[in-house]
Amino acid sequence: AALAAAAAASTPLDSPTIFDKIVNKEIPANVVYEDDKVLAFRDINPQAPTHILIIPKVKDGLSGLSKAEERHCEVLGRLLYTAKLVAKQEGLEDGFRVVINDGPAGCQSVYHIHVHVLGGRQMNWPPG
Ligand code: ADP
Repeated sequence: AALAAAAAASTPLDSPTIFDKIVNKEIPANVVYEDDKVLAFRDINPQAPTHILIIPKVKDGLSGLSKAEERHCEVLGRLLYTAKLVAKQEGLEDGFRVVINDGPAGCQSVYHIHVHVLGGRQMNWPPG
């Protein structure tokens, strides 16, 4: 996490990330949902039986939630709505958790906004 924070600090926030490579199919991902605006795929390092990331296909300055502008409202809504669709598709009827990490203190490591959907086990509160 410290290394990721250091790398993020020295990398312009509008630079492409590994998630652009996933969108462009330059590296593989286990895609569970896709439409013209968003892509959802399984996290490579799952923290729960179901752990899916949902990203906008075009970053448009949204390196993280803290960079959101009024023009992003539609895509932000689409990310959350997709979280619901994916949770249903994954059979998470008992509930699930949605997380957006922002910045170094939020433990964000990839600076292309993404929504985590976690489920398939009992979640705890407060989170770590
Ligand atoms: P953190 O690493 O603290 O969870 P983020 O909220 O930025 O920070 O989450 C980035 C997520 O992206 C991590 O859960 C990580 O496992 C996942 N990830 C990184 N590279 C890939 C990849 N190539 N395919 C799928 N998931 C990935």
